[in-house]
Amino acid sequence: MSRILVAEDEPRIASFVEKGLKANGFTVTVVGDGLSALDAARSGDHDLVVLDIGLPVLDGFAVLRALRSEGSAVPVVVLTARDSVTDTVAGLEGGADDYMPKPFRFEELLARVRLRLAPDRQGGELTVLTVGDLALDLRPRRAHVGGRTVDLSAREFALAETFLRHPGQVLAREQLLSHVWGYDFDPGSNVVDVYVRYLRKKLGAARIETVRGMGYRLV
Ligand code: CA
Repeated sequence: MSRILVAEDEPRIASFVEKGLKANGFTVTVVGDGLSALDAARSGDHDLVVLDIGLPVLDGFAVLRALRSEGSAVPVVVLTARDSVTDTVAGLEGGADDYMPKPFRFEELLARVRLRLAPDRQGGELTVLTVGDLALDLRPRRAHVGGRTVDLSAREFALAETFLRHPGQVLAREQLLSHVWGYDFDPGSNVVDVYVRYLRKKLGAARIETVRGMGYRLV
């Protein structure tokens, strides 16, 4: 099991990332300032660091610079505001392994985390998810139902992928919303229901079951 250090001072984002990583089997430590981040990263107890740039006490740039100057090679995925990506990349001087502009969908962060954790296993990574006669090919991002190819939009594909990664499991509306649309999406939105409808139309109505009061399940 991989251990991830999350350095993020905004509680909403820290908890969104923590919950998502834990749900995917990672052990997570969260710290809210740069000095704690540096201390925790120095301990060597973590396989990867998710590092916010705008941290109190010591910012993400200083944390990363200190780590790299001490010879630490721990993979670091940096979180930064979308409008300052260019400045961030310049400021990092190549010390980070990847960048995640905010706001982001959890699946995007997860993909980067997985990639950085296993750089030498990329070839062996699972690229086709199947449940029954339903298959999602993750490389060309194509769906197949009983051997027939089905066109899905990017959102539909992300939603279908979430279902296929948790077959038979009831997924709450809020869970799907934060996974596929991101943490800044209005929780009162009915967009999940709308997209489940689209998926049923394309993949077969009986495939996604409504579990009243709880959410949806792939059967
Ligand atoms: Ca921040």
